[in-house]
Amino acid sequence: MRSTINDQSDYSSENTILIIVLKPGTGEAQVRHIVNKVHELGLKTMVSQGVERTIIGVIGEEDILRITPFEAFPGVEKVMPVLKPYKLVSREFKPETSVIRVGGLAIGGKTIQIAAGPCAVENRTMLFDTANAVKVAGARLIRGGAFKPRTSPYSFQGLGEEGLKYLKEVSEATGMPVVTECMDPRDIPLVERYADVIQVGARNMQNFTLLRELGQTKKPILLKRGLMSTVKELLMSAEYILANGNFNVILCERGIRTFEDATRNTLDLSMVPLVKRLSHLPVFVDPSHATGVKELIEPMACAAIAAGADGIIVEVHPNPEDALSDGAQSLTPEEFSKMVAALRPVAEAVGRAL
Ligand code: PEP
Ligand code: MN
Repeated sequence: MRSTINDQSDYSSENTILIIVLKPGTGEAQVRHIVNKVHELGLKTMVSQGVERTIIGVIGEEDILRITPFEAFPGVEKVMPVLKPYKLVSREFKPETSVIRVGGLAIGGKTIQIAAGPCAVENRTMLFDTANAVKVAGARLIRGGAFKPRTSPYSFQGLGEEGLKYLKEVSEATGMPVVTECMDPRDIPLVERYADVIQVGARNMQNFTLLRELGQTKKPILLKRGLMSTVKELLMSAEYILANGNFNVILCERGIRTFEDATRNTLDLSMVPLVKRLSHLPVFVDPSHATGVKELIEPMACAAIAAGADGIIVEVHPNPEDALSDGAQSLTPEEFSKMVAALRPVAEAVGRAL
């Protein structure tokens, strides 16, 4: 399947969305005819060409959508409004899974992608040591925070631009794209220069100003689920980014707060198959922040892959006991390597590659 959207620049919240399902076998010329007619009405389209049939998402003002007799267009089988509050992120709007391109990698395709690295970039040496080790073990993206959202203002806050520079340098040396967090809309131009994937941390999932601004970039976004957020709220936050023009969003489950305090958070794995039904966006799982316990990371990573996750993001530190943040949940490179070996048969069992 492939999708094209004619203009991703300015969906406003007042816009309504409906879906035109075409009859099987409708030819390209007919699709183009419908798309042109829709554009003449001042509406926008997104075309999803499936193996069996083509679907056209139509976006625009409700009044125009209501009075236009789309059913009468040749080749149209049925017309349905997208009823869910999240629209552009929904499977109704785009039936095929989105594949997000990051460097030479495809996220959301058959291959499961692993992002690994330290919680925070602490210095150049530890970042290079970690990156080289995780690459050999099978990681395809390097993660590391330069801006850290710490609970205490007295805790290590990250190296800022210096950390970003080390990330870029390590990325050039290893070929692994960089995933790093941006906490503040004012930092977007800076982070954009160094990052391949911009992470929105759990604490910022509902920072709507940040989401809107990230929607105006073209960079893939890793949107982490908030500590106290529902699946619907996560999808609504993703909708902010898509509605502002950026369709390159990867969702990430990282555990939610419950009464259970034996683990740092409670990993809601059921959200993975649920979100994959509700949305076309790829889903990652972060077993490090979800459990906070290093012994639980391998089994939960395996479970995440079995549940249908498209990738995992894991914290690895060369000396976890010396880590400036999240040492208790950081794997050593050896433990990480063992985890990747454990993931392989699970990926194969669910028809994925690693
Ligand atoms: C992180 O991944 O570095 C992080 C801070 O995670 P979260 O936002 O999920 O707590
Ligand atoms: Mn961390």
